Amino acid sequence: MTTALKLSNINKRYGDVSALLDINLEVNDGEFFSLLGPSGSGKTTCLKVIAGFEIPDTGEINLFGEDVSSIPPFNRDVNTVFQDYALFPHMNVKDNIAYSLKIKKIPKIEQEHLIEEILLTVKLHGYEQRKPSELSGGQRQRVALARSLINKPKVLLLDEPLGALDLKLREQMQIELKNLQRQFQITFIYVTHDQQEAMSMSDRIAIFNEGKIEQIDTPNNIYNKPKTAFVADFIGTTSIILKSNALKYFHYESSFSLRPEFIFINSDQNHDFNIEAQISDVQYQGSFYKILFKTNELELTSFFYPKTNQILDLTLGTKCKLSWDKKNITNLNE
Ligand code: ADP
Ligand code: MG
Repeated sequence: MTTALKLSNINKRYGDVSALLDINLEVNDGEFFSLLGPSGSGKTTCLKVIAGFEIPDTGEINLFGEDVSSIPPFNRDVNTVFQDYALFPHMNVKDNIAYSLKIKKIPKIEQEHLIEEILLTVKLHGYEQRKPSELSGGQRQRVALARSLINKPKVLLLDEPLGALDLKLREQMQIELKNLQRQFQITFIYVTHDQQEAMSMSDRIAIFNEGKIEQIDTPNNIYNKPKTAFVADFIGTTSIILKSNALKYFHYESSFSLRPEFIFINSDQNHDFNIEAQISDVQYQGSFYKILFKTNELELTSFFYPKTNQILDLTLGTKCKLSWDKKNITNLNE
């Protein structure tokens, strides 16, 4: 497998703020790789370092085996799609897309051919003459994509490209983006703060927290084998039992994370862990209920699916027996 990108020991400070703290990662050629984390965790800074818009304080950026650390942005074989699209407002769709081809002095006839092809790909055929202001958010997003894809970069950097779109359109564009990535076989490095988006699109995800990477893994492992409390908590719903409580209530020697789908409510079977807790909040979620249980010191979230013949009194304060098995918990480093 070819390595498209390798970051080694990247550090970047802005004054007192450590935006990136010893970042190390490798992305394979053709991979859909996401940088996921809350706002301010260093994702955009990392992308800018890869693109060459920011110079790191230490470390090396390697693209396809070449150290590009001291190579300026326009000579790196990467292209960036920004959240705000950065289209030229006075130019129509066609000129926006053709811009980089003109700079590169690609012959006119070839330009026409490439533009035709890319317009079909991103479903903007017939929109050549429109200005960005005459397009919807989704269409503007497609122009921005077309403008980057037309350069056939080996690596495409995308910074929250769907952030400005409403939920329905975002979900539709997620599928289109993924299809484009497969079709062009370009390495995508995709920044998002939306865990659902990262989980559904990525081959692998790097979880960012305060400038550090907490875990790099497949979506499946990120969900089922989170390495830290931060990752377990950031991805999906989980209950985290810290070591002191794990010892006190379950004679268990490690902090652990427990997903809601593994908690049995009032089960009459034998399970490894059991505790009595009160219902303290009930959220209706359509096909199921999300229930928060409390004891004096613990909080546990479980799901209740009404279809399962089981009868459950959802009144706040109702006492339930909660049970789960050792095989379904994940030990946490912290
Ligand atoms: P994210 O994209 O994950 O939201 P950023 O990479 O934009 O995070 O920012 C990481 C940290 O670096 C934040 O604390 C941010 O305020 C800080 N930061 C980013 N860019 C600059 C800058 N140009 N000057 C000063 N601080 C910055
Ligand atoms: Mg950002």
